[in-house]
Amino acid sequence: MDKKGLAQALKQVAAAIELTDSNPFRARAYQNAARAIETSPYSLEELVLQDKARGLRGIGPAMLERIQEYYTHGQLVSQQGLLEGVPMGLWELLTIPGLGTKRVRTLYDTLEISSLSELEYACQENRLLELPGFGPKLQANVLTGLHQVRARAGQVLLPEAKQLADYWLEQVRQWPGVVRAEVTGDVRRSAPLTNCVALLLGVNEPPDEVLQTLSSLSAELNWTGGEGDLVEEQKGLAELTTDLPSGPALKIFLCQASQFAYHWLFTTGSEAHLAALRERGLSATAEQQQASSETFIYEQLGLPFIPPIIREDGDEVVWAAAGQLPMLVQTSELTGMLHVHTTYSDGAHSLAEMAAAAAARGYAYLGIADHSQTASYAGGLTPAQVQQQWQEIDSLNQARAGARLLKGIESDILPSGALDYDDELLAGFDFVIASVHSSLRQPAEQMMPRLLAAIAHPAVTMLGHPTNRLLLGREES
Ligand SMILES: [Zn+2]
Repeated sequence: MDKKGLAQALKQVAAAIELTDSNPFRARAYQNAARAIETSPYSLEELVLQDKARGLRGIGPAMLERIQEYYTHGQLVSQQGLLEGVPMGLWELLTIPGLGTKRVRTLYDTLEISSLSELEYACQENRLLELPGFGPKLQANVLTGLHQVRARAGQVLLPEAKQLADYWLEQVRQWPGVVRAEVTGDVRRSAPLTNCVALLLGVNEPPDEVLQTLSSLSAELNWTGGEGDLVEEQKGLAELTTDLPSGPALKIFLCQASQFAYHWLFTTGSEAHLAALRERGLSATAEQQQASSETFIYEQLGLPFIPPIIREDGDEVVWAAAGQLPMLVQTSELTGMLHVHTTYSDGAHSLAEMAAAAAARGYAYLGIADHSQTASYAGGLTPAQVQQQWQEIDSLNQARAGARLLKGIESDILPSGALDYDDELLAGFDFVIASVHSSLRQPAEQMMPRLLAAIAHPAVTMLGHPTNRLLLGREES
């Protein structure tokens, strides 16, 4: 729960008002409030506990109540009725790039479209062409966007997948007969995206018998499973699968506790990693199946233990065989962080809170890099605000109130390749990150000189998010 969540909740209400055709002025009030909160320099705590929300432009008595409501309940309880009045499928349609509330409403009102499949069908029939404000180009873009949305369905980012895995791990460890339980699959390999959270359970009874008991224990989860489509080498493994409400599948593998290491290796994957191991002799020998640890199996294959996070395309097996596994950076080795945002632009926490949080993680420094002035949608800093932030950083550093703060900025790279402040101001920063946030679709012939010009600027220390990929949001370019 933070101010981003609050702004998101207010925007959702605005969208619901627009989708159900209530009062447009009310929708605007929610949008304005969301914007005022996003661009304000305050965290959620400051907005509520220090009453900083009062006096922000666009925040009246009704919005103050909403903010309080969100702070107390984590959601806008008074607006739940309105949100539930929106046909479920319309929210999904809104995730397609190019479809705002107005167009989604038109689709719903005129063609009665309220799901991705109905929309796909309508596009194929060219039905969108007849609608006001639509055209062949938009219809083509909608179809592309629709396919992207569908490909992402059920996928979640690693942090969410980890949370789900941890939650379920705690549950299954209390199930009867379970002697060992661990996270496996994509999440164990720290895959950035997954549509499946998998756990491996070791049991002493035959796995399919335990499976019967377990599935009846939690029948409300609508498990499917059995021995399914497991490969030959995974004999002795049973599985249960269910779809979690938040999207991904939850898959529970059960094996004899004595074969845990062997099945852990197999359920962790990846496919390419296992294929490379098979070439070196991985097979279902009794010795491998009864291995006491994964390390033992790797040793049998003449390899050192390979950390799950790099078990990806099989190359890691080649490196391991040559004694050239990379040394992986450990979280405990991090001494600081660059490129963080604060409430000066679109971050959720104040400078002081960020400094304290960095110190709490044991960091020696934290590089502040809020957005620059052209990024007005993200509350980019004017030169005056930059000066103000520098003063605040100086006083926090003097007070030793947390990790040492570095004065940085995430400067937009303008379409021309120029940076977003004059050279004199730029020279005053400890570091400058240069990033592209607009005109993302420039052809390579324009984009490349633009990036090169930015990198060549003497003030620039590093390039921000070079491909502009946004996991589950935007393809890289
Ligand atoms: Zn950025």
